[in-house]
Amino acid sequence: MTSQNQLLFDKSQKIIPGGVNSPVRAFKSVGGTPLFFKRGKGAYVWDADDKRYIDYVNSWGPMIVGHCHPEVVKAVQAAAAEGLGFGAPTAAELEIAELLCKILPSLEMVRLVSSGTEATMTAIRLARGFTGRSRIIKFEGCYHGHSDGLLVKAGSGALTFGQPSSSGVPDEIAALTTVLDYNDAAGLEKAFAEYGKEIAAVIVEPVAGNMNLILPKREFLDTMRSLCTKYGAVLILDEVMSGFRVGLQGAHGHFGIKPDLITLGKVMGGGLPAAAFGGRRDIMQCLAPLGAVYQAGTLSGNPVAVAAGMATLKLVQAKGFYESLTKVAKQLTEGLSASAKKHGIPFSAQSIGSMFGLYFSSKVPTSYAEVMASDNAAFNRFFHAMLEEGVYLAPSAFEAGFVSAAHTEADIAATVAAADKIFANWK
Ligand SMILES: *Cc1c(COP(=O)(O)O)cnc(C)c1O
Repeated sequence: MTSQNQLLFDKSQKIIPGGVNSPVRAFKSVGGTPLFFKRGKGAYVWDADDKRYIDYVNSWGPMIVGHCHPEVVKAVQAAAAEGLGFGAPTAAELEIAELLCKILPSLEMVRLVSSGTEATMTAIRLARGFTGRSRIIKFEGCYHGHSDGLLVKAGSGALTFGQPSSSGVPDEIAALTTVLDYNDAAGLEKAFAEYGKEIAAVIVEPVAGNMNLILPKREFLDTMRSLCTKYGAVLILDEVMSGFRVGLQGAHGHFGIKPDLITLGKVMGGGLPAAAFGGRRDIMQCLAPLGAVYQAGTLSGNPVAVAAGMATLKLVQAKGFYESLTKVAKQLTEGLSASAKKHGIPFSAQSIGSMFGLYFSSKVPTSYAEVMASDNAAFNRFFHAMLEEGVYLAPSAFEAGFVSAAHTEADIAATVAAADKIFANWK
């Protein structure tokens, strides 16, 4: 019998470009036919053929309490019954804003939007409005959504000017973005020494999760903070992925680094489209209608999305929530590493909070170049073999993985056993 996944993909490709509504879903990196999901519950998802998988993608991060948590579903149903949206302020928006500011002391003021892309795009406009400068710095391998000025890679010749990494992004816009190496404190020093007074903002993933998982070096974070302070540039920590994932206070809480602005998304929407940016009061006061930096959204603060976010944020504050997730993620990475070692396969893994990275390289990478040098073909083979065994990993060697509070020790043991079976027949 033909797979329903295949039938749906064949049809989708006729009317949706590439058959998907976001590129990485298409399995281009790993090859093969993407899965079409029907439902999820706890740590599991079911595809169109009703095959069950242990899910380590978690909707790319948001599902930190597992799929269809009863509290979240109940909150969404209750909010929906009261009205799907008003395009006017609601008490629920105030409630989530207060909660975000209470949990994250870096937030003096916060504004809600609907996606991480909107949050980062606006944070940059705000930094430019606040400083009156145009240039921004980002790091190779970090992803901050798909706004024009952030789809930029390092230019070949000049250190200063970035080049578009997507067709359709004008060179003139890309030229305002400087792209440096992640974890390279010396590179930052050099850039600031040359044109520090032109820099409006540095934007960074304080734990990088869009080039597999790369942890920041202490010196990198400290240098970034002190240079931004010295030159009057705005430090934007993009915590769309790491926020409420690395720990309750995100990566900046974990590492004790003070941002000027942060961006949030994914977990804070509990699976629905809610995101936010916020930080220093003096900067946030530049936003319309108080200030001259424009930003708006018909669906911003949507009551149903806010209800899902609020219910999720209540659950993650439970005592021991992150300790337990951290332990589960460690069990997974240690189990997989031990199995690979036993079978003599060059493999390494690490985790921070509920995020993990798996690498087909003998040591854990600390830079974009190192992660790119890992064995992509081995990952793709492993990915498909795990899929066969009922384990759903991100369909690319360059994405972080996630555990949720619904993953049990038995799920982790089953995952490690699946990998062990694959590694035993690896040759
Ligand atoms: C996912 C992500 C974004 C973009 O968020 P969307 O909601 O997909 O627009 C931005 N920054 C980081 C770090 C992300 O992981």
